[in-house]
Amino acid sequence: CGIVGCILKNKKAAPVLLDCITKLEYRGYDSVGIATLDDNGIHVKKGSGQIKEVDEKIDLSNMLGDAGIAHVRWATHGIPNKENSHPHLDENENIAVVHNGIIENYGDIRESLEKEGHVFKSQTDTEVIPHLIEKYMSSGLDLEEALMETLTIIRGSYAIGAISKNNPNEIISARKDSPLIVGVGDNEYFIASDAPAILNYTNKIIYIDNGEIVILNEEGVTVKDSKRNILDKEVNIINWTS
Ligand code: GLU
Repeated sequence: CGIVGCILKNKKAAPVLLDCITKLEYRGYDSVGIATLDDNGIHVKKGSGQIKEVDEKIDLSNMLGDAGIAHVRWATHGIPNKENSHPHLDENENIAVVHNGIIENYGDIRESLEKEGHVFKSQTDTEVIPHLIEKYMSSGLDLEEALMETLTIIRGSYAIGAISKNNPNEIISARKDSPLIVGVGDNEYFIASDAPAILNYTNKIIYIDNGEIVILNEEGVTVKDSKRNILDKEVNIINWTS
């Protein structure tokens, strides 16, 4: 029911992501997972249960990579178990996706992807997203272009965070009818379902509107509209006074 992503500088992403998803616990959830990215590719740890239980079992903060995405799931399609937990990957494990929301037409998409040879591992609506991105990337598109193309196919609600082995140090994100914000830190950049998730790291917040897409990389944050025009978004300073 919540997503987080971060790109840090010379600092492991997993402990930060774990802290951030803990701040989303109040939204309610049944499963948890993290994917990080380093020069060796994508690493994933996930499972059903409370964050604390899953962490005690598989040590969620012990993952390499300065960039990553994380999820707390409120199951809508597929029971809460490890296979259905996010992040979801394509079969080559080149792409990882976290998603909050519901993909209404996933049944038809899955059927046609399976006819094209894609093999699915979960019962979720979400898993069509990494497979669609994989399909478009193998036709020559980069991660951003492939996610844009994917958004023309899927219907429903989403806040999505996606990473790819081919684009290290980059997170692409998009939203429609599920909340999404960006955090602008000191050489550190974040996406999250809401601001409290990341306020330990930055109080500079950009609110993302429906239909916008976000590119996080080492240089910073770029927000684009659905026609890929770069937008000049306001950075809000959140001051928490007691
Ligand atoms: N529909 C997705 C699933 O069931 C995402 C649920 C959520 O927003 O946590 O896995």
